[in-house]
Amino acid sequence: MDYRKRFRVKPGSKFKLSDQAPDFTDKLESEEEAKAQLDHYQHRLREFQDLLWVNQKHSLLIVLQALDTGGKDGTINHVLGAMNPQGCRVAHFRQPSAEEAAHDFLWRAHRDAPAAGEVVIFNRSHYEDVLVVRVHDLVPKSVWSKRYKRIDSFEKELVEHDTLVLKFFLHISKAEQLKRLKARLDDPAKHWKLSAGDFAEREHWHDYSKAYEEALRECSTAHAPWYVIPADHKWFRNLAVARIVVEHLDELKMGYPKPAVDLKRIKALYKKAAKRGA
Ligand code: AMP
Ligand code: MG
Repeated sequence: MDYRKRFRVKPGSKFKLSDQAPDFTDKLESEEEAKAQLDHYQHRLREFQDLLWVNQKHSLLIVLQALDTGGKDGTINHVLGAMNPQGCRVAHFRQPSAEEAAHDFLWRAHRDAPAAGEVVIFNRSHYEDVLVVRVHDLVPKSVWSKRYKRIDSFEKELVEHDTLVLKFFLHISKAEQLKRLKARLDDPAKHWKLSAGDFAEREHWHDYSKAYEEALRECSTAHAPWYVIPADHKWFRNLAVARIVVEHLDELKMGYPKPAVDLKRIKALYKKAAKRGA
């Protein structure tokens, strides 16, 4: 199955979240069954990130969005965990600070966009400004409704600067969210993650779904696609994200740069050194 085709929001389509089942696993039945594939894609991720870093030409921006408990932290752990910390970074988008709020909404996104050779993951992103902001009426409709176009041209700008922009919505069901909130309650190591806000936000599930659908429809483009990842099963979510990222990086056809030195001369120097020994 072509995961990119299967999970991509087709540009210009009338996409609905109900088009994608959150518990889909592509006939894989368990984490054990998926493990070999996951290992494979993680290994390749690491190779490609090395190529990004040494070539200093392309960069990669991964945007992660989800409702509470959707698995952003877990995905970051898995995808970034496969990479070399040198050259990777996570930017977490919280409620804007006073300085951020004093700028236009894209300012902080641009500030944290990857430099050549870098991989950056956005844990939440500039999309919050058409999601939480819309659901809670933090600005009037006349303001947020103009943002889709601005997001589009911002992302285009990044793409023209050789940034691969890949956006993932981690799609969980409402029942799965309740299960995860319960699991957090049951695990003292996860209590810090809980907030009354999670339950209040749950009341807005329908509004968030509508806001996501519009954002995904308006902003999934050929140059910066949105993928809707079935995320009820954490192992499938990790596999699907890793695989899609790898397939995009593969298309960049990166190789190692030619050595800047005269290899013959270096080999001769080495021989001499080896002859002299320690
Ligand atoms: P978390 O990612 O769980 O640590 O929570 C961060 C919180 O910041 C979430 O509730 C987001 O909805 C909120 N947030 C992020 N960006 C914005 C924004 N532009 N305006 C208002 N709230 C935001
Ligand atoms: Mg949270």
